[in-house]
Amino acid sequence: MHAEIIAIGTELTTGAKLDTNSQWLSIELAAVGIPVRYHSTVADSLEANLLVFQNAIQRADLVLISGGLGPTLDDLTREVLARLMGVDLVLDEPSLQQIKEMFTRRNRVMPERNVIQAMFPAGSSVIPNPRGTAPGIWMEIARPGTSPCLLAAMPGVPSEMKPMFRDSVLPKLSAFGGAGNVIRSSRVNCFGLGESHAEELLGDLTTRGRDPEVGITVHEGTITLRIESHASTGAECDAKIVATKIVARERLGDYVFGDEDEQLEHVVIRQLQQRGLHLRTAESATGGLLATWLTNVPGNDKVYLGGQIGCEARLTEIHRPPSGTDFTLVVGDVVDTFTDPALPPIPKICVRLIGPNVEASADVQGLNDPTILKSRAAKTALDLLRRHLLKN
Ligand code: AMP
Ligand code: MG
Repeated sequence: MHAEIIAIGTELTTGAKLDTNSQWLSIELAAVGIPVRYHSTVADSLEANLLVFQNAIQRADLVLISGGLGPTLDDLTREVLARLMGVDLVLDEPSLQQIKEMFTRRNRVMPERNVIQAMFPAGSSVIPNPRGTAPGIWMEIARPGTSPCLLAAMPGVPSEMKPMFRDSVLPKLSAFGGAGNVIRSSRVNCFGLGESHAEELLGDLTTRGRDPEVGITVHEGTITLRIESHASTGAECDAKIVATKIVARERLGDYVFGDEDEQLEHVVIRQLQQRGLHLRTAESATGGLLATWLTNVPGNDKVYLGGQIGCEARLTEIHRPPSGTDFTLVVGDVVDTFTDPALPPIPKICVRLIGPNVEASADVQGLNDPTILKSRAAKTALDLLRRHLLKN
């Protein structure tokens, strides 16, 4: 069974609000072993909703919808579902009573428009909503030659949608044998190589459909392998992930520096702690980024002695490392380089590692995004030290 999640609302497609419901639902589904193949976001438009719903019920076994169940004219989910099935909307008396009671408890009279929230496409069933006026809608839509498509329409308000999903929708999914499996994922972080190089080294590990599946993403020079495993128990998933990680580490060697949320600065601080060594920084182009990262790591004060910020010419530590410093990481100025007079210059930063019996450097060439260039320069500096300490 695989799923599609549909988020409805013009406030989402205009960018006024971020669709957080789909993210939350995807994580919930993964926890019960149901992979999500599609996220669709659609404005409050009848034609657009019809098209999106038609597609979804053909291509997904489970369709989870949030939004469009309010009482106002722009809330169209009920009507779209009725049209899709070619049925009428019919009044559900118990739901109407509940909505009326909800207003009475708040000392208000129910506006006539709210009656629409007690109307359901014929043949569907009601998903109770103890936290709001809009009940959800559950449908099992027959599909010729294959299993029915299961569909749940829930309110957009996250505090109503979440308990409705957990209390009422999830139990239905287990009954259909959809839930019950487990999906677990884990990350391996690498630095110093590009995405395609990583893919080449990983070989068959990145084959689509492999279990566990290995995906590669890149963020400011850090390559992350995302390993995702499916099994009937968490322990089985974990065992498969561990086996895949061993192979990935063998193939990528020293490019791998950590797991999960571990960053280069965590690794470097740990290496220094283990050896009782000390570090200072002298930063021009990165303006203190290295110092910020290093000082975010718990326990850094035992090994990180602080740093200087300024243009390269004024960074005195480069020339006279203070006593008690084992290593200095230097990030130089941004220098424009010209490869072709017809093209704009390419910014470049030189980073250096200075220490006892070591003087290493690397050039970091930029795309024209200063944030990414700085981040890559700071990471490259940390990686020089990480690699030096690995070998010594
Ligand atoms: P609706 O059920 O469409 O009337 O949505 C009610 C409110 O819930 C909206 O005004 C949004 O603030 C919020 N909402 C709707 N959809 C989402 C979503 N996908 N993610 C986060 N908030 C949402
Ligand atoms: Mg809406």
